Amino acid sequence: MSARNYNFLNIEISEGIMGQEMFNLEGKVAVVTGANTGIGQGIAVALAQAGADIAAVGRSEATETADLIHAMGRKCELVSADLSTIAPVDDVVEQTVSSFGKLDILVNNAGVIRREDALNFSEEDWDTVMDTNLKSLFFLCQSAARHMVGWASRDGDRGKIINIASMLTFQGGIRVPSYTASKSGVGGLTKLLANEWAAKGINVNAIAPGYIATNNTAALQADETRNRQILERIPEGRWGEPSDIGGAAVFLASKAADYVQGHILAVDGGWLAR
Ligand code: NAP
Repeated sequence: MSARNYNFLNIEISEGIMGQEMFNLEGKVAVVTGANTGIGQGIAVALAQAGADIAAVGRSEATETADLIHAMGRKCELVSADLSTIAPVDDVVEQTVSSFGKLDILVNNAGVIRREDALNFSEEDWDTVMDTNLKSLFFLCQSAARHMVGWASRDGDRGKIINIASMLTFQGGIRVPSYTASKSGVGGLTKLLANEWAAKGINVNAIAPGYIATNNTAALQADETRNRQILERIPEGRWGEPSDIGGAAVFLASKAADYVQGHILAVDGGWLAR
């Protein structure tokens, strides 16, 4: 690997790492929750394309995702877990480490949404969303980080945690009180964990997807008025695809993002810029 000194910038640039190497995830093991469909599937496939092996975690078997990953010559293990409680959290980490020997990257993607007027919102809809989107996410971060602190170091290989936030990490939304509370919580928690774990060699960041065409947004897409209002507000003029989120996940999981901490990266076709 050659190094060239660009004196006008006073920066030493190692050419070998400035290209794709910086985003290369070969030899890395990533846990992706909710990897059977939607954004989780898009992220799992993108991480595998960048070279990572994948533990595809969820309550539905991610067989289609596994087929796509195997076709690329990468490994994919299915880990069964219902993340509506924290009961399976430690097992997810243990099973991943026992299958692959390690865990480098955690993507907390699994999430649910419940839509109802705030005046009528039930305790059950509150608890289901908060438990899955926020409580299980935190304890999975904790369990993965307990493994990562064993090997991660400030200057060497780093653990990477990526939480899936939302536009409702920044905005209020409407008729989704527990979802807004959970995703606002994901933003705050991401920053807190970055503060605590940066010095332990772990990067904690989040991706805030805009309006992505998945099961989660099927009701909005089917509502003609809401669909038109949403499209009119997106500068890109289209719904995002799960694959649109993959590049941001590869970036945050890679060496290129070693100095990125506590950031919530919007991938929204310009929605927040409007
Ligand atoms: P999706 O297609 O509904 O996928 C949700 C994923 O979470 C599925 O794999 C689902 O598994 C899994 N999941 C839900 N509850 C679970 C549980 N108790 N245990 C284990 N897995 C569970 O929706 P998506 O849009 O891809 O959502 C993925 C993430 O992106 C979510 O956190 C969501 O809040 C977030 N997000 C989505 C958008 C968007 O516009 N689509 C925007 C911002 C943020 P099953 O298939 O078994 O239900």
